[in-house]
Amino acid sequence: MPNKLSTLTHLECSHCRKIWPHTVLQNLCPQCAKPLLARYDLKAAARTFSREALADRPYSMWRYAEVLPPDEPVTLGEGLTPMLLAPRLGKKLGLDRLYVKDEGLNPTGSFKARGLSAAVTRAKALGAKILATPTAGNAGGALAAYAAKAGIPAVIVMPADTPRANVQECLAFGADVRKLDGLISDCGRYVAEHREEEQWFEVSTLKEPYRIEGKKTMGYELWEQFASKLPDVVIYPTGGGVGLIGMCKAFNEMEQMGWIGSERPRMVSVQAAGCAPIVAAYEKGSPNSEFWPNAATLASGLRVPKALGDFIILEDVRTTHGTALTATDEEMFAAGKELAAAEGIFAAPEGAATVVAAQKLAQKGWIKSSETVVLFNTGTGYKYSEAWEAALRPTKTAS
Ligand SMILES: *Cc1c(COP(=O)(O)O)cnc(C)c1O
Repeated sequence: MPNKLSTLTHLECSHCRKIWPHTVLQNLCPQCAKPLLARYDLKAAARTFSREALADRPYSMWRYAEVLPPDEPVTLGEGLTPMLLAPRLGKKLGLDRLYVKDEGLNPTGSFKARGLSAAVTRAKALGAKILATPTAGNAGGALAAYAAKAGIPAVIVMPADTPRANVQECLAFGADVRKLDGLISDCGRYVAEHREEEQWFEVSTLKEPYRIEGKKTMGYELWEQFASKLPDVVIYPTGGGVGLIGMCKAFNEMEQMGWIGSERPRMVSVQAAGCAPIVAAYEKGSPNSEFWPNAATLASGLRVPKALGDFIILEDVRTTHGTALTATDEEMFAAGKELAAAEGIFAAPEGAATVVAAQKLAQKGWIKSSETVVLFNTGTGYKYSEAWEAALRPTKTAS
C-alpha cells in the first residue's frame, strides 16, 4: 500500500534554494550540485500527525508517515530503536542522565538501514533499474539488503580494506561488489564515472535526497522517546553527517508543526583523530571543510575525508551551540570496552567515539551533570570483528 499520509510536495536545494520536482529521480541540484532536501506541506501534515496518532502506527520509522515519501515502504523493520538509560557509565562520567540510542539494533546492524529504506523506497517507486553506492561499509550492506527486498539489482563499491562483515553481507544479499584500493572518495569517483554507461541510479550519501529523510526519523524518535521533549545534548559520530543534518531537519519540521519551540539540543559532532575535517573547520571558524589527506581510522564510517554536506553540518553545530571534537582509535576502543562492560552494549567504534566525547566534554564542564545527554551508537560492534579482536587481544606485556 502506498503511504497515503505523506505530504511530500517538492525538493529544494540546500544551497541555492531552487525548487525541483520530487516526481522524477534526482541526485544533486542540477543548478549548483549541492544536496537537495525533501519538502512537505507541514500544515497538512500537522492535521493528522500527532503524538496520539502515533499510538496506532507501525512499529518502525514509517510511523512518521506524513514526513516520509508517499510510496509503499521497502521495509525490514528499521527504526524505533531503544533509548537506553546508561546509569553505570553515567556515574563514571559524572553524568546523571546519560542515554544511549542503540542504532546497532537496526536491520543490517547500523542506522544506515533508515536512510536506505527511504532511498530504495523512493527509487523503486520512480522506476530506478540498478542502484549503486560507494560505501565505507555499512551503507553498502544496507543498500544491498533493501535492494534485495525491493527486487532491484545493487552495485556496491567499497575500499578493499572494508570490514569483512560488510563484504560478506553484500555478497549474501546478492549485490555486485566491487573492491577498490583507496578510500570512499575514490569509490565515489568510480561510481560517478560508471553510472551513466552502466545505467545506475546513485544513492550515495547526500547525492540522493531521501537517505536524509530516513535518518531524520532519529530526530522524531528523540521527541517521541523523551515524552515530547528533546534532550539537552546529542553526541553524534560524524562521517558524511547525514544523521546530524537529518535530525536538525526533523527539529525544524517539528517546530513548523508546532510540536516544539525554537529550543534545540546542542549537537556535538565527534570525528576520528585520523580523519577530522569537520572538527578542523569548526575550530578554524570556517563554513566549509577541507579534504583530509591520508584519512585513517578503524571506525570505517568516520573515514570520510570530505563530506558533501559539510557546510550544513557546520551550520547545524554552530546554530545549536554545539561543538566538534576528536577521539583517537585507541580512545574509542577503550571507551567501547567501558560501555560494553558497564551497560551491556557492544558498540561500533563510531558509537564508542561518542563515549569519548561525553567524557571529555563532561570533564571540561561543557556538559553539566544534570543535563540529559544522548549518545548515538550508530552501529553494532559485531560487524567490526577484526578491529575488536585486535583491540581485545591481551597486551604484549602479558606474554
Ligand atoms: C555511516 C556511519 C557513520 C557516519 O554517519 P553519517 O551520518 O554519514 O555521518 C557513523 N557510524 C556508523 C556505524 C556508520 O556506519
